[in-house]
Amino acid sequence: MEQTLIILKPDAVKNKHVGHILSRIEQEGFNILALKKVHLKDKEAKKFYEVHKARPFYKDLCKFMVSGPVVVAALEAPGAVEKWRKLIGATDPAQADANTIRKLYAESKEANAVHGSDSEKNAKNEIKFFFSKDELKGKL
Ligand code: GDP
Repeated sequence: MEQTLIILKPDAVKNKHVGHILSRIEQEGFNILALKKVHLKDKEAKKFYEVHKARPFYKDLCKFMVSGPVVVAALEAPGAVEKWRKLIGATDPAQADANTIRKLYAESKEANAVHGSDSEKNAKNEIKFFFSKDELKGKL
């Protein structure tokens, strides 16, 4: 079993796609290990996206991520990291395959509905970033 960290971004929450996306997550066979709604602080968004610090869109991305609440979840499935990335589709919804979450629900390359960890190692760190030991007790 593998875990991954996902975020339903401010556009997905604002556009009321949370229920649809969570339903799809269950249909696709993921187990939801932990789940909560949070409104990130500027400092937290900057820390979470630190790997993108040098990229031209870093500032805008951080601003977008604090523009409204998000829903974060730790998911579990065999090959969860790749399985989720395949299900969400390309970063830019215009390039995403039909029926992927970003094709269905994203607004733009920035407001692209969902985040997914890009490796098992990052998934572990990102899960710890959002969920306390207590919240994950016995689940990892
Ligand atoms: P992901 O792994 O598909 O989420 O894509 P990346 O790791 O490359 O980028 C992280 C996030 O930054 C994306 O999900 C988008 O929200 C945002 N992003 C990526 N590329 C761009 C861009 O060219 N412009 C803007 N404004 N945002 C971007």
